[in-house]
Amino acid sequence: MRKRILTGDRPTGPLHLGHYVGSLANRVRLQDEYDTYVLIADVQALTDNFEHPEKLEANIFEVACDYLAVGLDPEKAKFVVQSMVPELPELTIYLMNLVTVATLERNPTVKEEIKQRNFAKGVPVGFYTYPISQAADITIFKAELVPVGEDQLPMIEQAREIVRRFNRLYRKVLIEPKAMLGQMARLPGTDGGAKMSKSLNNSISLGDPSEVVRKRVMSMFTDPTRIHPTDPGHVEGNPVFTYHEVFNPNKDEIEDLKDRYRKGTVGDVAVKQKLFDALEKFLGPIRERRNQFASQPKRVHEIIMEGTRKGRAVAQATMAEVRDAMRLSYKFDS
Ligand code: ATP
Ligand code: MG
Repeated sequence: MRKRILTGDRPTGPLHLGHYVGSLANRVRLQDEYDTYVLIADVQALTDNFEHPEKLEANIFEVACDYLAVGLDPEKAKFVVQSMVPELPELTIYLMNLVTVATLERNPTVKEEIKQRNFAKGVPVGFYTYPISQAADITIFKAELVPVGEDQLPMIEQAREIVRRFNRLYRKVLIEPKAMLGQMARLPGTDGGAKMSKSLNNSISLGDPSEVVRKRVMSMFTDPTRIHPTDPGHVEGNPVFTYHEVFNPNKDEIEDLKDRYRKGTVGDVAVKQKLFDALEKFLGPIRERRNQFASQPKRVHEIIMEGTRKGRAVAQATMAEVRDAMRLSYKFDS
């Protein structure tokens, strides 16, 4: 049997450049080698968007279009809708017994996200415990590899701990997953913030039209110490140069721009224009494929349903083993 990959995204909006370099590129690269499942995590999206469930359906479609646009092949990578796999909440409940409240309290990503979200009525239990449901997502697929961005490392560590406990306590059924980081483990936001994120309005989406990309690039945060284009500028920590490094294949051009930027002989506008050109070359074909799929909703829905059916079959098989290992497969009717 081929080794499995499980990874996913929350359908909180269309996917962006951060998803691409953090995780999508690896998924596309590895889909031939691994039996790949990609979870569209609508249940997890609800944990901080439970007041707006009406957005999920459209966002699931958007995310599926993004997958197809970047080259995930539905024959190889199965798109699975989380809420349509009821075995996931079942496993989550069992795994909850294997995690202490103190461990959840220490999770640095959850801490950071709680700060960002500033929940008006306190932190929902569902949000607080999402590392456990994410461990269920990964382990129900018996995934060995999880291509993710850096923010997800504590989640994978949590999943590994749960697997060790489960296998020791009951029987060796689950597999300890390994994280795989992308070329850029954490792409900064266009605002210079630490992470490009759907929820922070600092992203360039994979399907954004040219004009939107141009506006985003031209208003990007650069070197705040530089007032005139003739001032010597800072390249390190400047997101415009970070994006150049990742998306501009012309390394000589980048070196030349950096050199002139440091000397104060090239302005921000020129550096941004070159970045826009590079991004357009990268995003153009993705945008075109995305528009094609978006105009065929029936086809995309079929792909989602088929992937979910296959994913659910895997989940059901694992749960039969889990229940057996936990002595829950009672024989009262025999
Ligand atoms: P939200 O703000 O709704 O949480 P998000 O932009 O953080 O959205 P997720 O759906 O939470 O996106 O993340 C999906 C995957 O993409 C995860 O593996 C995450 O690590 C990765 N990812 C998201 N943003 C970035 C980024 N800026 N750089 C690298 N990887 C990222
Ligand atoms: Mg996130």
